[in-house]
Amino acid sequence: TELESLIDDLVRPIEDWPEPGVTFRDITPLLGDPAAYGAVIDGLVALAEEAGPVDAILGIEARGFLFGPSIALRLGVGFVPVRKLGKLPADLLSTSYDLEYGSSTLEMHVDALAPGARVLVVDDVLATGGTMMAAADLVSQAGGVVVGNLVLIELLALGGRERLAPIRCSALRSY
Ligand code: IMP
Repeated sequence: TELESLIDDLVRPIEDWPEPGVTFRDITPLLGDPAAYGAVIDGLVALAEEAGPVDAILGIEARGFLFGPSIALRLGVGFVPVRKLGKLPADLLSTSYDLEYGSSTLEMHVDALAPGARVLVVDDVLATGGTMMAAADLVSQAGGVVVGNLVLIELLALGGRERLAPIRCSALRSY
């Protein structure tokens, strides 16, 4: 599709970054092109609407913040930031998850979601799914329900979609 070729053109693969053997998908050229950025937001909003009604969009620091708020505004729901350790000021929920080397912690305000809130989780790239799983844990601690995950780009070989099942993940482009 047109949107897929736009992503192919404006998300550049950077070989061996941040470490040897990794190909990093760099979205900064896309962000610099307002027509393309807008078209991607339109595409993400359409996928969000397919996922069904939601009460909040949850975005993951940092690149989930570049897409989540626009989607939330378009759907007419609030935006909830999930942040890395030590960034949020009020009472917190927290979850830790394993990375290839070491571990990482994500946090969310304890009062960020209404009880039973239906949440769509947004990020730029789905790789192993560990980050999305951690976000789902925070939502469940808060008494909410993840109705879907939404990303620009899904890296199929890393098995994120299988790991997230039965919760669905929608992507604009799969590699
Ligand atoms: P996962 O937890 O293995 O699914 O990795 C996904 C997280 O790492 C997301 O928050 C992404 O922003 C980030 N990430 C992983 N690979 C890439 C990439 O190639 N480009 C941009 N972000 C990436």
